[in-house]
Amino acid sequence: MSDGEGDVPMATVLIKQGRIVTAVDDYQADILIEDGRIRTIGQDLVVGDPVEIHDASGLLVLPGGVDVHTHLDWEFGVARTVDTFGTGTKAAAFGGTTTVIDFCNQNRGESPLVGLEDWHHRAASACVDVGAHMIMLEVNPQSLADMQTLITRDGVTSFKLFMAYPGVLMLDDGSLFKAMRLAAGHGAMICVHAENGQVIQVLVEEAVATGRGGPKYHSETRPTLLEGEATHRAIKLAELAKTPLYVVHLSAREALAAVAEARDHDLPVYAETCPHYLFLTNEEYARPGFEGAKYVMTPPLRDPSHQQALWRGLRTNDLQVISTDHCPFCFNEQPFGLKFSKQQGQQDFSKIPNGAPGIETRLPLVYHGGVRTRGMSLHRFVALMATNPAKLFGLFPKKGTIAVGSDGDLVLFDPNETWTIRASEHHSRVDYSLFEGYTLTGRVQKVFLRGQCIVDGKEWRGREGMGEFIHRGECGRL
Ligand SMILES: [Zn+2]
Repeated sequence: MSDGEGDVPMATVLIKQGRIVTAVDDYQADILIEDGRIRTIGQDLVVGDPVEIHDASGLLVLPGGVDVHTHLDWEFGVARTVDTFGTGTKAAAFGGTTTVIDFCNQNRGESPLVGLEDWHHRAASACVDVGAHMIMLEVNPQSLADMQTLITRDGVTSFKLFMAYPGVLMLDDGSLFKAMRLAAGHGAMICVHAENGQVIQVLVEEAVATGRGGPKYHSETRPTLLEGEATHRAIKLAELAKTPLYVVHLSAREALAAVAEARDHDLPVYAETCPHYLFLTNEEYARPGFEGAKYVMTPPLRDPSHQQALWRGLRTNDLQVISTDHCPFCFNEQPFGLKFSKQQGQQDFSKIPNGAPGIETRLPLVYHGGVRTRGMSLHRFVALMATNPAKLFGLFPKKGTIAVGSDGDLVLFDPNETWTIRASEHHSRVDYSLFEGYTLTGRVQKVFLRGQCIVDGKEWRGREGMGEFIHRGECGRL
């Protein structure tokens, strides 16, 4: 990964005549980028040579997308996600995302500082800018002190705590509370995976023992009630600890109700959902054979009533962010091997690696389904894709908007091009898309990372290692 120095000198870039859309603005102007940052925004800018000019007439100019939930090159039990940072962030760029916050983790018996170091090695190939959330697996006096170091020294200002996967990732309530209390005093954000892991384990063991081994039982053993219960519990613990709380991949009406109630009581509680919960339902698990395994992610897909509630939550601001939870495992065993594949769970759904891809399709899907189909405003779209995640996770105003002094991270978006999603054309190493064959209107045309054009139509002009690590600031202010 680059430290931003010693690279090829950055070009001066002029983007002309685009329709600039941010979370609050909408106007036509030119944008001048120098040394990677936006220097001037104005009408009919005149710039001397040498300057690289891009004509954006007829296109929307959006802030580069910020995806705060990805799992790149991540080992999870006996499985490993199939994208490297190089391939995953190249796919992100083609989808209009220029900043990714990925999850690194503490290993048992080790300091989280070691986990961060290991993550930095893997993240060195990133093509877009990256930050890290730390997954805490053990909470003790030393790891609490290490959390403080991560916040103040390393720019890792958010932590993920699991309430699911007992024996693998789950923390007990006392540990959750201790970690929350530490975060509260240091401007850090606590992110929770909210499902009741122990009760789910009972249901899973019963299903497997009675021969219910197919992919659809992944969904039936993770009821929405248990997501609602854990979300409510996390909120109460965060309230007591006086920390802001961010609920990741919220999928269920019950969980949304708990978040809405907390927000009505003026608590700093936030939540994201993901495109798969907005566009797909649990009907996918009825697919023949083992096909349903493609949709085995956690939480699972829900019935259509939950989907309606999520769209409403986006409108009423009970949900503030849409992230991908890109956690790619191939459907087929080849060419990467069983470790990277869903086939591990052929006989037993509880052994199917949990996760699904989506890093390349977030912006166009939500533009199509939200802005074009459901009347979402362009401002709300930008807020959900870029501005809100940047603000909540200590990246704003460097990232998440188009303003003088902000990084030159821009997406030129054609609101009228119609195209069809094909896994065979995307840039991730995963071998399927949850949205295969979906026809969308609205497509990413060009992408700029700190002023460098890295995506130009179908052409890749970026390179592995050009992404910078972002030392993040205080979280939780929206
Ligand atoms: Zn995840």
